[in-house]
Amino acid sequence: MRKTLYLKFILAYLLFGVFGFIGVATFVTSMITDRCVRRNADDLYREATVIANTYAAELYSTTTSLDTVYRQISALSAYMDADIWIINPSGRLVVNSFSVPEPDNETVITSFDPGVTGTGFYFVGRFFDQYEGSRLSVLAPIIGGYRIKGYVCITKSYADIEREINSNVNIAYLELLVLILLSVIILIFFTEIVYRPLRRITTATEQYASGNMHYELSVDSEDEMGYLAASLNYMAHQIARSEDDQKKFIANISHDFRSPLTSIGGFLEAMLDGTIPPESHGKYLRIVQNETSRLTKLTNGLLALNNLNTSGMLLNRTDFNINDMIRRVAASFEQTCAKKRVTLELVLLGEELYANGDEERIEQVLYNLTDNAIKFTPSGTGVVRIESSERHKKVFVSVRDNGIGIPKKDIGQIFDRFYKSDLSRGRDKTGTGLGLSIVREIIRAHGENINVVSTEGVGSEFTFSLPGSRINDELEDI
Ligand code: ADP
Repeated sequence: MRKTLYLKFILAYLLFGVFGFIGVATFVTSMITDRCVRRNADDLYREATVIANTYAAELYSTTTSLDTVYRQISALSAYMDADIWIINPSGRLVVNSFSVPEPDNETVITSFDPGVTGTGFYFVGRFFDQYEGSRLSVLAPIIGGYRIKGYVCITKSYADIEREINSNVNIAYLELLVLILLSVIILIFFTEIVYRPLRRITTATEQYASGNMHYELSVDSEDEMGYLAASLNYMAHQIARSEDDQKKFIANISHDFRSPLTSIGGFLEAMLDGTIPPESHGKYLRIVQNETSRLTKLTNGLLALNNLNTSGMLLNRTDFNINDMIRRVAASFEQTCAKKRVTLELVLLGEELYANGDEERIEQVLYNLTDNAIKFTPSGTGVVRIESSERHKKVFVSVRDNGIGIPKKDIGQIFDRFYKSDLSRGRDKTGTGLGLSIVREIIRAHGENINVVSTEGVGSEFTFSLPGSRINDELEDI
């Protein structure tokens, strides 16, 4: 495709040149010839008419002498660079501008034919065989007493007219040449501005099509080409990223599934072949149970994420009391907190605070955040605080802990699927790294945000927003 586009343009350019020359050589030349001949003939005929109506007419009415007329037409002939003839209808020469009249010596032009001009008033030829070369001649009748008494003929060398024609045709060729040179400039511009960037874009698309999404396409222009290249570049980067993400995703899933399965398989085999004595079976079966519940958790997490991605926008929005939800979630963690000796504090705004959203999913958000906060807080001194507040018609919920915190370098990634900070790995063996990505998907689906502020060794605070409900305004009014 890319070669033919350029070839087409070159071909069009060559055709323009060839047809331009053909055009000038044929149409333009014939137009110039016609115009020059006609203009010269017009000039000659105007003069011939003037002579026919003045000196020549006077000559026939004998008010002037042949000599006078001869002198006048010779002067005029020198001025016009043409020969003037006065001829009788029978062909008898009365006088011409270049030979002194000799009334006794009669000259007859035998082939004289006034009808030679046809319907026009001029003709090109050897002027009734009086000249060697070609002439442009006009015939103007001399009228007297309603009769044609003779003709004034003016004849001019056709070679002179041809010189004029040639100089005009040369100008046309010159103009064509200038035009062709100018179009070379257009061709160069086209090559630089359109063709080269287009070729680079085509090469890039070929690379992308063959799977090399990391191919760097560089077109710096600020026009549509640049914009197209930038869009393609962006598209390729996005595809490359999504491919990388997908690879990472599969690698993570395989890894996260393989390790519990390996340990389950290992323990079961050891129990079956007697490596683990029957009295220890209980201990190892509990490990196997933990691993299977982790696998279940992982599968559920993946399913939840998948559902959020495919039907993420289908939220069952209602107005619900978020304070009630916080109390409910806190109650479900009572046992865990008591076991871990972590204090759970609730700081709630008023008795009732209404938010608008998908209650079930928001409960999952709160559950995941509280679960993490308790998980990553050391037992004994740990305090987890859940707070609700309202600002600018939005409801905010924050979950704060004084646990291990998140290293600065990890903060940008904790919401990614399967991401677990190095700090947390040792402490939490049951984590899947999916909890926070589920949280983010749910909050995003609501068109809201979740932020995290954390300091390593000090603690973390996750805050998310939800649209407030109108019920809150009504409650205020009471
Ligand atoms: P996990 O199942 O591992 O908890 P999450 O997606 O919920 O997966 O969390 C991802 C990672 O973010 C965790 O492994 C942990 O490193 C970090 N993280 C999340 N919440 C906290 C918290 N409250 N304190 C410290 N680190 C946290």
